[in-house]
Amino acid sequence: MKILTVLGARPQFIKAAAVSRVFKKEQNITEVIVHTGQHYDEEMSDIFFTELDIPKPDYLLNLGGSSHGQMTGRMIQEIERIVLREKPDYVLVYGDTNSTLAGAIVASKQNCRLAHVEAGLRSFNRRMPEEINRVCTDHVSDVLFCPTKEAVDNLRREGLSEPDRRIVLSGDVMKDAALFYGQRFKMPVDMDGDYVLVTVHRAENTDDPDRISGILGALNAIARKTNVVFPMHPRTKAAIDKLNLKIEFEPWSPVGYLEMLSLIKGSRFVITDSGGLQKEAAFFNKYCLTLRDETEWVELVEAKVNFLVGADQETIMNSFEKLNVGLDKFPDSVAELYGDGNASEVIAKELLDDQRC
Ligand code: UDP
Repeated sequence: MKILTVLGARPQFIKAAAVSRVFKKEQNITEVIVHTGQHYDEEMSDIFFTELDIPKPDYLLNLGGSSHGQMTGRMIQEIERIVLREKPDYVLVYGDTNSTLAGAIVASKQNCRLAHVEAGLRSFNRRMPEEINRVCTDHVSDVLFCPTKEAVDNLRREGLSEPDRRIVLSGDVMKDAALFYGQRFKMPVDMDGDYVLVTVHRAENTDDPDRISGILGALNAIARKTNVVFPMHPRTKAAIDKLNLKIEFEPWSPVGYLEMLSLIKGSRFVITDSGGLQKEAAFFNKYCLTLRDETEWVELVEAKVNFLVGADQETIMNSFEKLNVGLDKFPDSVAELYGDGNASEVIAKELLDDQRC
């Protein structure tokens, strides 16, 4: 069976690392990797391929750094050319980026079967570009691998059901990645427990001057009380520079995944607007303040380990103070929410079970 994987952005490298590792062990699977170049530099791309032993991409496109329309359009053009040449049994896409959408559009128009890993997630906020990408991709997918029960329910509520497609509760491949690569921790600094770990990169925060100012105001105030480790995404750096906002602490450059896992593990708690990091915090029993008004990972909010604090400085500070005075024991039940770390095996098996290939 030939699987053509389309990826292009940091979280997809991590998800693909877990799945490709399993594909490599399957004699009956040949994987062809297309890297769209949505993220392309050393810090946001190369380090993940090297550290996580992801096979070198068979096709490396150079399509990052332009508008949504231009980027997605050029990706569609290039991926179509590759699909016509490679004739895969499946196109496999991850998550919710422009690369995901481009792969999905090509596969569905070329009548090639499409598998979507991380299907069914919804923020119910159509102003997020990621939400548009997810909804469109799910609706043209043949196999939908859902990380959570909630994701399965979301698909059913939108009228997606068998037998027109397969909906599989696979568990979360990010848990596979965290469990596997977590054994290779790499602690960058000797500051165990003495810092909060922060990431910010969502367009809804970086592209809105009020929101990014509110967040940065809160982070500056937090940095006066405790250490802040903030590996800063290039988009966030650009937004802060453009608005000339003041940072009262030294942000870090983006770090590799192994370093990130050890930073999570060593932190007091996490403050983020990242989808992946909200879960990774939970995988390592860390509480999380989420700098958004809604989340796709609602089960963490229900379990009271993740708190939606938006982008208002005072709200963020109040929640920070509450967590900072003392943390309750992290509930054991959270460990069961995202499967047992074998989602990648489930995905490989389901694809191989497709009798038509
Ligand atoms: N990550 C990383 N280095 C960093 C920041 C994030 O390795 O400097 C990892 C993080 O641990 C998670 C993934 O990148 O596995 C999340 O990516 P991102 O926050 O960019 O995207 P999202 O998950 O929100 O789609």
